Amino acid sequence: MTYSERKDERAKLLIVDDNKQNIELLMELFRDDYKITAAVNARRALKIALSEAPPDIILTDILMPEMDGYELCRKLKGDSKTKNIPLLFVTAISEEMDESRGFALGAVDYITKPFNPLMVKARVKLHLELKRKQELLEKYAFIDALTEIPNRRRFDEVIDQEWNRAHRAGYSISLMMIDIDHFKLYNDTYGHGMGDDCLRRVAGTIAEVLRRSSDFVARYGGEEFVVILPDSDLSKALDTAKKIQDKIDALDIAHQSSLAADHVTFSIGVATMIPEDGKHPRELIEAADTKLYEAKSSGRHCIRS
Ligand code: GH3
Ligand code: MG
Ligand code: MG
Repeated sequence: MTYSERKDERAKLLIVDDNKQNIELLMELFRDDYKITAAVNARRALKIALSEAPPDIILTDILMPEMDGYELCRKLKGDSKTKNIPLLFVTAISEEMDESRGFALGAVDYITKPFNPLMVKARVKLHLELKRKQELLEKYAFIDALTEIPNRRRFDEVIDQEWNRAHRAGYSISLMMIDIDHFKLYNDTYGHGMGDDCLRRVAGTIAEVLRRSSDFVARYGGEEFVVILPDSDLSKALDTAKKIQDKIDALDIAHQSSLAADHVTFSIGVATMIPEDGKHPRELIEAADTKLYEAKSSGRHCIRS
């Protein structure tokens, strides 16, 4: 869970210093505000940072035997699991200090000893706040604002990941294109606000059917959704498509001007591929799109594969 998602809990601070007195000094300062872990060398700090409960922010000494603070910083910034943890160097003003080197390695700040406690606290708080904002920005950049399911941008990432994974493992991957039937008429009949409500409900319903964790749904465009089913052959994918369609029929959202039924319905195109060298996920998307088009031209409210 990211820092921004654990808003009720205290932030976790990791202090790295080979001098126990320095650790105690910082602990004293932060004890009331944060959950503190300490490491007496960089190797231990790396282990904690890579653990299941990584810190939200790291304060590290620079001069340490074996691995120094710069090396620790370089290692943390080089690993995708730890690169977003803000790291601050703590150093005596008299010590040989190379600020530009630390910043170049990705550190966010320097704290110089002797401390001004208020200043040190304010800086740590600031960097935690920046981190929280950054996490929120990243999260919302991939969520569709209306339906609150993943957006097209996120889909583009996930399809590449899942395609590559299926390629490596040699299993098939299925894709479903789902489009609401006569949705323009729905808006014309009930108004755009009701149209928005309808989109939210059907998006939530698709997500509910796909409880298996690796299955993925995104809003592909206006009233179109896309589902990725990793490690699914065609018959499994068709089962899921049928479940989605049944669930939407059961919602029974009135649509009196629809030419396909008396309620809101889907047309669904399904395609399955085993990724091979030279093939591109685009082909899978196009195949599902072609099938969706077939479903539309054969009367809508149906599944084609
Ligand atoms: P078809 O059965 O062929 O798919 O017909 P359709 O009317 O659903 O398809 P068309 O592509 O002609 O129209 C899509 C409609 O979806 C038009 C557009 O106003 C509506 N739409 C797209 N995005 C939104 C949205 O965010 N909110 C609302 N309320 N309507 C939307
Ligand atoms: Mg439509
Ligand atoms: Mg459409």
